[in-house]
Amino acid sequence: MKKKVMVFGSFVVDLMARTPHLPVAGETVIGSLFKMGPGGKGFNQGVAAHKAGADVTMVTKLGKDLFAEVALDAMKTLEMDTSSLFYSEEIETGSALIMVDEETSENKIVVVLGACSAIGDKEVESISEIIEESGYLLTQLETNISAVEKVIDIAKKNGVKVILNTAPVQPISDVILKKVDIITPNEVEAEILTGICIDSQESASKAADWFFDKGVKNVLITLGSRGVFIASESKQEIIPAYKVKAIDTTGAGDAFNGGLVAALADGKDLWEAARFANALAAIAVQRLGTTPAMPTRKEIEEFISNN
Ligand code: AMP
Repeated sequence: MKKKVMVFGSFVVDLMARTPHLPVAGETVIGSLFKMGPGGKGFNQGVAAHKAGADVTMVTKLGKDLFAEVALDAMKTLEMDTSSLFYSEEIETGSALIMVDEETSENKIVVVLGACSAIGDKEVESISEIIEESGYLLTQLETNISAVEKVIDIAKKNGVKVILNTAPVQPISDVILKKVDIITPNEVEAEILTGICIDSQESASKAADWFFDKGVKNVLITLGSRGVFIASESKQEIIPAYKVKAIDTTGAGDAFNGGLVAALADGKDLWEAARFANALAAIAVQRLGTTPAMPTRKEIEEFISNN
C-alpha cells in the first residue's frame, strides 16, 4: 500500500535576472531577462515527489506577504495540500536573488531564508499527528536546524522512515545522524561531512562507513552525471546516471530526492527507488528551471521504458 510522505523544508521565491555581465560592487547593469518563481530545496523536493505521484504533505513556513502567494498559487495549481503550512506575522517569506551571466552562466546568489528558518518547536509539535501518519519523512538542512532535529525526533519515535538530504551542508550532530535511515549527500557534502574526498567507489565506500559508524542505516551519495553510489551495510554499488544532454542541472539533487521518496513510498526497495530517482533527475536536467522541470509520473515511466 502506498505510504504518505512528509516533506519538511524551505520555501523561497527565486528572483532570477540574466545579465550581460555580473555587476561589480557599486555597479548597476541593465539585465536582459527577469523571472520569478517558487523555489527552496524543501519546496523543490516536495513538488518533485508530488508530481512523481506521491501523497505529499508539504511543511514549510511563509510570511504574510506577496511572496507567500507565490507558494500558495504554485501549490494550488499543482493540487498540493496547503493545510500544513506555517505562517509568520513578523518575518518575510524567504527569497533568493540570483544573477546569471548570460555568456558564461556564472552566477551570484544571495538567499534570505526568512520565515522558513524560524520554525518553532511548538509548531513542529502541532503537526505530530501528521508526522506519525507518514511512512516517510524527507528533510534537508535549509530550515533552522532545531526544527530539523525536532521533526526527525518525532518521526523516529513513531517508526517513520527518515531521509536526510544534507543540503546546504552544515555540521550535523551525532544525535540527528543516529536517527537517519537514508542520508543523501552529494559528493561535496559527503566530503565536508566525513573528511573523505569522494573520487572513487572505494572512497565513497569509506565515507559510507563513516556514516554507518554514526548510526545511519543507508547511504546514497549522488555523483552528478556519474549517477549515485548506494550502500547499505550488506551491499553497495554505483548505479550509473542515464546518458542525457543536460542543459540545467540546478535542482538535480532536489529532483533525485523527490523521486527517491516517491518510489520508496510506493513500496519499491532502495535500489529500485534510486533507479527511479535517477530517471526523474535525468529528465529534470534536460529542462530549464527547478519546479517546472520536474516530470510527471507518466513522463518518468515513459522515460524508463524507453531508456
Ligand atoms: P548531483 O546533485 O549533481 O549529484 O545530481 C543528483 C542526481 O541528478 C544524480 O545522482 C543523477 O541521478 C542526476 N544527474 C545530475 N546531473 C546529471 C546529468 N548530467 N545527466 C544525467 N543525470 C544527472
